[in-house]
Amino acid sequence: MIQRSVTDVVTNGKTMTDKTYLKELRIPTKENPLRVLMSACLTGLMCGWDGTNNGEYPSAQKLLQRDNIKIFKFCPEDFSYGTPREMSDIHGGTGFDVLDGKAKVMTESGHDWTEGMIKASERMLEIARNNDIELALLLDISAACGSQVIYDGNRLSENKVYQIGAGVAAAQLIRNGFRVISQRDFASLEILYSKIDSSHVIDFTKVDQNETEWYRTYFKIT
Ligand code: SF4
Repeated sequence: MIQRSVTDVVTNGKTMTDKTYLKELRIPTKENPLRVLMSACLTGLMCGWDGTNNGEYPSAQKLLQRDNIKIFKFCPEDFSYGTPREMSDIHGGTGFDVLDGKAKVMTESGHDWTEGMIKASERMLEIARNNDIELALLLDISAACGSQVIYDGNRLSENKVYQIGAGVAAAQLIRNGFRVISQRDFASLEILYSKIDSSHVIDFTKVDQNETEWYRTYFKIT
Protein backbone atom coordinates (compact mmCIF):
# COMPACT_ATOMS: atom_id res chain seq x y z
CA MET A 1 0.00 0.00 0.00
CA ILE A 2 1.31 3.43 -0.97
CA GLN A 3 1.67 5.77 2.01
CA ARG A 4 0.03 9.15 1.56
CA SER A 5 -0.40 12.24 3.64
CA VAL A 6 -3.76 13.92 3.29
CA THR A 7 -2.99 17.15 5.09
CA ASP A 8 -1.84 18.81 1.87
CA VAL A 9 -4.93 17.91 -0.12
CA VAL A 10 -7.65 18.58 2.42
CA THR A 11 -7.90 21.93 4.14
CA ASN A 12 -10.95 22.66 6.26
CA GLY A 13 -13.01 20.22 4.27
CA LYS A 14 -12.04 21.88 0.98
CA THR A 15 -10.19 20.00 -1.68
CA MET A 16 -7.49 20.75 -4.18
CA THR A 17 -5.38 18.84 -6.59
CA ASP A 18 -1.87 17.77 -5.66
CA LYS A 19 0.53 18.40 -8.53
CA THR A 20 3.54 17.44 -6.43
CA TYR A 21 2.08 13.98 -5.98
CA LEU A 22 1.37 13.73 -9.71
CA LYS A 23 4.90 14.80 -10.62
CA GLU A 24 6.27 12.09 -8.36
CA LEU A 25 4.09 9.36 -9.84
CA ARG A 26 6.11 6.51 -11.30
CA ILE A 27 6.37 5.91 -15.03
CA PRO A 28 3.98 3.02 -15.63
CA THR A 29 4.59 0.15 -18.05
CA LYS A 30 2.41 -2.35 -19.83
CA GLU A 31 3.59 -4.99 -17.36
CA ASN A 32 3.03 -2.72 -14.35
CA PRO A 33 0.28 -0.27 -15.34
CA LEU A 34 -0.82 2.74 -13.34
CA ARG A 35 -3.89 1.80 -11.36
CA VAL A 36 -6.55 4.47 -11.85
CA LEU A 37 -10.05 4.48 -10.39
CA MET A 38 -12.49 6.32 -12.64
CA SER A 39 -16.07 7.47 -12.40
CA ALA A 40 -17.72 4.86 -14.59
CA CYS A 41 -19.55 7.49 -16.63
CA LEU A 42 -16.20 9.04 -17.62
CA THR A 43 -15.30 5.76 -19.26
CA GLY A 44 -18.47 5.91 -21.35
CA LEU A 45 -20.73 3.69 -19.27
CA MET A 46 -24.36 4.84 -19.37
CA CYS A 47 -24.70 5.09 -15.61
CA GLY A 48 -25.72 8.74 -15.29
CA TRP A 49 -28.94 9.51 -13.44
CA ASP A 50 -30.79 9.82 -16.76
CA GLY A 51 -29.24 6.72 -18.32
CA THR A 52 -26.62 8.67 -20.27
CA ASN A 53 -22.87 8.89 -19.72
CA ASN A 54 -23.17 12.54 -18.66
CA GLY A 55 -21.56 13.75 -21.88
CA GLU A 56 -18.24 13.28 -23.64
CA TYR A 57 -15.04 14.02 -21.77
CA PRO A 58 -12.05 13.57 -24.09
CA SER A 59 -9.63 14.65 -21.34
CA ALA A 60 -10.55 11.50 -19.41
CA GLN A 61 -11.22 9.19 -22.32
CA LYS A 62 -7.66 9.74 -23.52
CA LEU A 63 -6.56 7.45 -20.68
CA LEU A 64 -8.64 4.59 -22.03
CA GLN A 65 -6.44 4.30 -25.09
CA ARG A 66 -3.26 3.44 -23.17
CA ASP A 67 -2.01 -0.02 -22.27
CA ASN A 68 0.08 1.26 -19.37
CA ILE A 69 -2.98 2.26 -17.35
CA LYS A 70 -5.35 -0.15 -15.67
CA ILE A 71 -8.75 1.45 -15.24
CA PHE A 72 -11.11 0.46 -12.46
CA LYS A 73 -14.64 1.76 -13.14
CA PHE A 74 -17.21 2.42 -10.47
CA CYS A 75 -20.45 4.39 -10.25
CA PRO A 76 -21.38 5.03 -6.61
CA GLU A 77 -24.93 6.15 -7.34
CA ASP A 78 -25.64 3.20 -9.60
CA PHE A 79 -24.28 0.89 -6.87
CA SER A 80 -26.90 2.10 -4.39
CA TYR A 81 -29.78 3.28 -6.54
CA GLY A 82 -29.48 1.76 -10.01
CA THR A 83 -29.84 3.54 -13.36
CA PRO A 84 -31.84 5.54 -14.28
CA ARG A 85 -32.54 7.18 -10.94
CA GLU A 86 -33.42 10.54 -9.42
CA MET A 87 -31.05 13.47 -9.38
CA SER A 88 -29.51 14.05 -5.97
CA ASP A 89 -27.51 16.79 -4.29
CA ILE A 90 -25.93 17.49 -0.92
CA HIS A 91 -27.85 19.77 1.43
CA GLY A 92 -26.19 21.49 4.38
CA GLY A 93 -22.54 20.94 3.58
CA THR A 94 -20.11 18.89 1.51
CA GLY A 95 -19.41 15.18 1.15
CA PHE A 96 -17.12 15.42 4.18
CA ASP A 97 -20.04 16.77 6.21
CA VAL A 98 -22.25 13.92 4.96
CA LEU A 99 -19.65 11.41 6.18
CA ASP A 100 -19.63 13.22 9.54
CA GLY A 101 -23.42 13.14 9.86
CA LYS A 102 -23.73 16.92 9.48
CA ALA A 103 -25.28 17.11 5.99
CA LYS A 104 -27.67 15.04 3.90
CA VAL A 105 -28.01 13.81 0.34
CA MET A 106 -31.52 14.48 -0.92
CA THR A 107 -33.14 13.65 -4.23
CA GLU A 108 -35.06 16.17 -6.29
CA SER A 109 -38.34 14.73 -4.95
CA GLY A 110 -37.19 14.82 -1.32
CA HIS A 111 -35.99 11.27 -0.67
CA ASP A 112 -33.09 10.96 1.74
CA TRP A 113 -30.24 9.11 0.03
CA THR A 114 -27.64 9.83 2.70
CA GLU A 115 -27.26 6.26 3.88
CA GLY A 116 -27.00 4.78 0.37
CA MET A 117 -24.44 7.36 -0.69
CA ILE A 118 -22.27 6.64 2.33
CA LYS A 119 -22.53 2.89 1.63
CA ALA A 120 -21.52 3.50 -1.99
CA SER A 121 -18.57 5.61 -0.85
CA GLU A 122 -17.45 2.79 1.41
CA ARG A 123 -17.63 0.36 -1.51
CA MET A 124 -15.59 2.73 -3.66
CA LEU A 125 -13.00 2.99 -0.88
CA GLU A 126 -12.90 -0.80 -0.67
CA ILE A 127 -12.22 -1.02 -4.42
CA ALA A 128 -9.48 1.60 -4.09
CA ARG A 129 -7.82 -0.22 -1.22
CA ASN A 130 -8.16 -3.72 -2.69
CA ASN A 131 -6.55 -2.61 -5.94
CA ASP A 132 -3.93 -0.29 -4.48
CA ILE A 133 -5.28 2.58 -6.56
CA GLU A 134 -2.70 5.26 -7.32
CA LEU A 135 -5.05 7.98 -8.57
CA ALA A 136 -8.78 8.57 -8.88
CA LEU A 137 -10.22 10.51 -11.81
CA LEU A 138 -13.79 11.46 -10.98
CA LEU A 139 -16.52 13.57 -12.60
CA ASP A 140 -16.72 16.95 -10.95
CA ILE A 141 -20.00 18.52 -9.77
CA SER A 142 -21.57 15.17 -8.86
CA ALA A 143 -22.89 14.73 -5.31
CA ALA A 144 -20.92 11.46 -5.24
CA CYS A 145 -17.90 12.01 -7.46
CA GLY A 146 -17.33 15.79 -7.40
CA SER A 147 -13.93 16.82 -6.09
CA GLN A 148 -13.56 20.56 -6.70
CA VAL A 149 -17.05 21.99 -7.04
CA ILE A 150 -20.45 20.61 -6.10
CA TYR A 151 -23.93 22.06 -5.81
CA ASP A 152 -25.05 23.55 -2.52
CA GLY A 153 -28.55 22.14 -2.34
CA ASN A 154 -30.86 21.29 -5.20
CA ARG A 155 -29.29 21.98 -8.59
CA LEU A 156 -32.75 22.18 -10.14
CA SER A 157 -33.83 25.09 -7.93
CA GLU A 158 -34.35 28.48 -9.53
CA ASN A 159 -31.21 29.95 -7.96
CA LYS A 160 -28.81 27.02 -8.04
CA VAL A 161 -25.71 27.57 -5.94
CA TYR A 162 -22.25 26.03 -6.23
CA GLN A 163 -19.86 25.39 -3.38
CA ILE A 164 -16.23 24.38 -3.10
CA GLY A 165 -16.08 20.79 -1.95
CA ALA A 166 -16.19 17.10 -2.68
CA GLY A 167 -19.06 14.70 -3.20
CA VAL A 168 -19.54 11.84 -0.77
CA ALA A 169 -17.49 9.18 -2.58
CA ALA A 170 -14.66 11.58 -3.43
CA ALA A 171 -14.57 12.80 0.16
CA GLN A 172 -14.33 9.22 1.37
CA LEU A 173 -11.35 8.56 -0.90
CA ILE A 174 -9.61 11.84 -0.05
CA ARG A 175 -10.11 11.36 3.66
CA ASN A 176 -8.48 7.97 3.39
CA GLY A 177 -5.42 9.29 1.59
CA PHE A 178 -6.24 8.72 -2.07
CA ARG A 179 -5.52 11.48 -4.56
CA VAL A 180 -8.51 12.64 -6.62
CA ILE A 181 -8.54 14.81 -9.72
CA SER A 182 -11.44 15.68 -11.97
CA GLN A 183 -11.91 15.69 -15.72
CA ARG A 184 -11.64 19.48 -15.54
CA ASP A 185 -8.26 19.58 -13.81
CA PHE A 186 -6.46 20.09 -17.08
CA ALA A 187 -3.08 21.07 -15.58
CA SER A 188 -3.02 17.93 -13.44
CA LEU A 189 -4.09 15.84 -16.42
CA GLU A 190 -1.20 17.27 -18.44
CA ILE A 191 1.21 15.90 -15.82
CA LEU A 192 -0.57 12.57 -15.92
CA TYR A 193 -0.39 12.41 -19.73
CA SER A 194 3.38 13.02 -19.54
CA LYS A 195 3.71 10.02 -17.21
CA ILE A 196 1.88 7.63 -19.49
CA ASP A 197 3.22 8.95 -22.80
CA SER A 198 6.92 9.86 -23.01
CA SER A 199 6.26 11.88 -26.16
CA HIS A 200 3.68 14.10 -24.48
CA VAL A 201 4.82 17.70 -24.08
CA ILE A 202 3.16 19.35 -21.09
CA ASP A 203 1.01 22.34 -21.98
CA PHE A 204 1.74 24.75 -19.14
CA THR A 205 -1.09 27.08 -20.19
CA LYS A 206 -3.64 24.57 -18.90
CA VAL A 207 -5.12 25.08 -15.43
CA ASP A 208 -7.03 23.07 -12.88
CA GLN A 209 -10.63 23.86 -12.06
CA ASN A 210 -9.67 25.79 -8.92
CA GLU A 211 -7.36 28.00 -10.99
CA THR A 212 -9.95 29.09 -13.56
CA GLU A 213 -11.31 32.60 -13.75
CA TRP A 214 -14.84 31.29 -13.27
CA TYR A 215 -13.87 29.56 -10.01
CA ARG A 216 -11.99 32.57 -8.65
CA THR A 217 -14.75 34.98 -9.59
CA TYR A 218 -17.64 32.82 -8.41
CA PHE A 219 -16.04 31.98 -5.06
CA LYS A 220 -14.56 35.48 -4.69
CA ILE A 221 -10.98 34.25 -4.41
CA THR A 222 -8.41 37.00 -4.79
S1 SF4 B 1 -22.20 8.84 -9.50
FE1 SF4 B 1 -20.19 9.28 -10.37
S2 SF4 B 1 -19.83 7.58 -11.80
FE2 SF4 B 1 -22.00 7.59 -11.36
S3 SF4 B 1 -22.93 8.82 -12.97
FE3 SF4 B 1 -22.54 10.19 -11.25
S4 SF4 B 1 -20.54 11.08 -11.66
FE4 SF4 B 1 -20.74 9.26 -12.97
